[in-house]
Amino acid sequence: MLDRVELEKKHLDDYAPIVGEEVIADIREFAQPLQDARVVHVNATAYGGGVAEMLQTLVPLMRDAGLDAEWQVIEGTDEFFNVTKAAHNGLQGMDIELTDEMKDIWKRYNRMNAEKFEGDYDFIVIHDPQPAGMLHYRQGEAGDRWAWRCHIDTSHPNPAYWDFFAPYINEYDTAIFTMEQYVGSGVQFERLAIITPTIDPLSPKNKPMPLDEARGVVAGYGLDLERPIISQVSRFDPWKDPLGVIDAYRIVKDQMPEVQLALVGSMASDDPEGWYYLDKTIRHAGDDLDIHVLHNFHGVGAYEVGAFQSASDVVIQKSIREGFGLVVTEALWKGKPVIGGDAGGIPLQIIDGETGFLVDSVAACAEKTLALLEDPGRAEEMGKAAREHVRRNFLTTRHLADYIELFAAMA
Ligand code: UDP
Repeated sequence: MLDRVELEKKHLDDYAPIVGEEVIADIREFAQPLQDARVVHVNATAYGGGVAEMLQTLVPLMRDAGLDAEWQVIEGTDEFFNVTKAAHNGLQGMDIELTDEMKDIWKRYNRMNAEKFEGDYDFIVIHDPQPAGMLHYRQGEAGDRWAWRCHIDTSHPNPAYWDFFAPYINEYDTAIFTMEQYVGSGVQFERLAIITPTIDPLSPKNKPMPLDEARGVVAGYGLDLERPIISQVSRFDPWKDPLGVIDAYRIVKDQMPEVQLALVGSMASDDPEGWYYLDKTIRHAGDDLDIHVLHNFHGVGAYEVGAFQSASDVVIQKSIREGFGLVVTEALWKGKPVIGGDAGGIPLQIIDGETGFLVDSVAACAEKTLALLEDPGRAEEMGKAAREHVRRNFLTTRHLADYIELFAAMA
């Protein structure tokens, strides 16, 4: 049996004051035909990264809407996660090798996990490339409505990786992508749903936190509250470009010597490469004591991440490639304009000049950071627009409604 993730109870009605009664009533109505439908989400990790973050809320809310939903996590060791990390990068276009041995490892772990997967479900949602072979290797009566949820951008994949993965992906009738253009060529689905990720406005990370409290947390990590703070919250990963953020910060610091930078990143259990990149980031920071590189081993959990997002003067997300960028959503929701890389789902969230700025270079990132630090009034105004943009488009209730609509179409 695969590990089932234990989940807290969550209640849709608690979201009504934020999104409105009508939204909640609609969800309940649309969920009527799906009462007690057995749903399982399967992914690679119960914590770290955006997928785990979303399932943490979506699955309990599916339950509150009357579905019999659960979440299971596949098993793997470093040899498997090294391959899946390469697959994550390769499917997003990185020029890396895919050896026969890597293919064998991926197949072996997918077969093993498929054998351990038990239960009979109405809807099975497989998240991302790690467990994508679960349908191919399925055993017995697991159910026949399978969807593959792709959280990454496979529009320009490395052909070696795409040729290997596409046949497994093609076995699914239903696929969910974040953006239509993310679908790689040569795969065809009977049903293609476009669903953007969302955040939970009531999670410890996103629920309202008094500014003083947030500032207290940040001060506890050694940042000086009398001086401006810029931050990026992200895994330590080349696509998130923490080194570029340091370079941009250095340009800002030339003009504004008092500025401080916090780079906050969690180390996910399925991301062995993270340690290498963390090390690289620390070395790039050198002996500048105004650069604070922090991760979950310093006790930076969800609550602290929320505090950093709330207490920063400017939030940066300088991604070069990005699936969607939940950290952008989280910061916008806290009323912060975000300076983000013009990549993936970031432009859906950052309306350039309104909710933040889209940048495609270190220099532009530095310029916009400085502009916002020098004009707090404008930053505040943009922050208000940012929060409203998220409220309307990127909260978890919208996500739940999209899944319910999809399941109804698959039924
Ligand atoms: N995150 C976190 N702690 C950290 C770094 C990231 O809790 O130190 C969370 C972050 O708040 C967000 C998720 O991990 O909810 C990352 O999602 P995103 O879509 O930004 O990127 P991904 O890691 O999935 O590529």
